[in-house]
Amino acid sequence: MKSRNEIKNVAIVGGTHGNEVTGTYLLRRWAANPQEIKRHSFDTKLLWANPKAFRENRRYIDCDLNRSFSRDDLKDETIDTYEGNRAKVINALLGPKGNPAFDFTFDIHSTTSNMGITLILIGEDQYQLRLAAYLKARIRNVNLLCIPSEIGEANLSSVTPRMLGIEIGPIPQGLLRHDIFDQVNQVVNLGLDYIELVNAGNDPAVDYQVEVFTYRSTVKFPVDSEGNIGAMIHRDLQDKDFTALLQGDPMFVTLGGEIIPYTEDEIAYPVFINEAAYYDQKIALSLTDRRMTTIALVGTRAETEFVLSRMWAEMLQLEAVGADDNLFELGADSLSALRIISLVQQTFGVELPEVALFESPTISSLCERIMALKMKPDPRAQD
Ligand SMILES: [Zn+2]
Repeated sequence: MKSRNEIKNVAIVGGTHGNEVTGTYLLRRWAANPQEIKRHSFDTKLLWANPKAFRENRRYIDCDLNRSFSRDDLKDETIDTYEGNRAKVINALLGPKGNPAFDFTFDIHSTTSNMGITLILIGEDQYQLRLAAYLKARIRNVNLLCIPSEIGEANLSSVTPRMLGIEIGPIPQGLLRHDIFDQVNQVVNLGLDYIELVNAGNDPAVDYQVEVFTYRSTVKFPVDSEGNIGAMIHRDLQDKDFTALLQGDPMFVTLGGEIIPYTEDEIAYPVFINEAAYYDQKIALSLTDRRMTTIALVGTRAETEFVLSRMWAEMLQLEAVGADDNLFELGADSLSALRIISLVQQTFGVELPEVALFESPTISSLCERIMALKMKPDPRAQD
């Protein structure tokens, strides 16, 4: 019997879109150096998703492979496109969807938009969220983009119960870049490390809350009377992925120079701004909402210390706080102490007296107290 969080089979998928070539070349590297992606507690399979589209340097041959995995389409025997058939082959290898042989998929993509390292999560699974938070804490400039399950339902990675999409850019279609190649290699390898740690019961510490961008809507280009794209992304919006867009901010400019602003009341955080792959559908960008999401804690000592040090570093506006640093010497005062105590109560569900910090003025001593309180049975608990 495997436990709920144990992962036995991991698929690393590249080349789902034929002209996003980073994944394809990384698969070649790993095929030649399989020890790089080998871990002890699970098997890893490399899957080149769309070889024909890669050879033709196109996103797809007949239709988008990453929109071909809905349950209905996988069952539909009348579908006879190249990608429709590839989807069925991949579903047979990794799936079948609903009762899959594989537990986890890394799916490697790239974008012409200025999205840095974006980790895409479909659905709200805590395992995926913890993995993404783990990567975000260890790699600079990582953004988390959450797609509701119903929207990601036809994506390749929906075949396995858990997934991580890697979307990295800006990079032109068909191009290989050393920096991006290395970054994706690092993301996948740290992701494999994370799975290995959790399989061994050593869940690594992650932040107690993390910034996520949640998909809201897709915005199309304005069109002229003949249906052609009639405006372009305004220069002020170009490359501003994950940056706040406010009502009245310029969004498009027509070929004649007329500005078309963003009109909604609610602040949006645009992504996939001016993505080349979406011109055929006249899609200009997607809008997301930004929020902080709470991560379920696993309760280990390492995690408790890590979370406390992150809370204090944020409170004191320091890069890091050591486990044995005296917090008052670093600038804590009674006001910040009270704020941290209230944050600790919310986050760990333990009651601390107001003087707790004066008695335990280091992360490690505070951690001791929290761990000791967690050991005591909660008198309010039913069983
Ligand atoms: Zn892609």
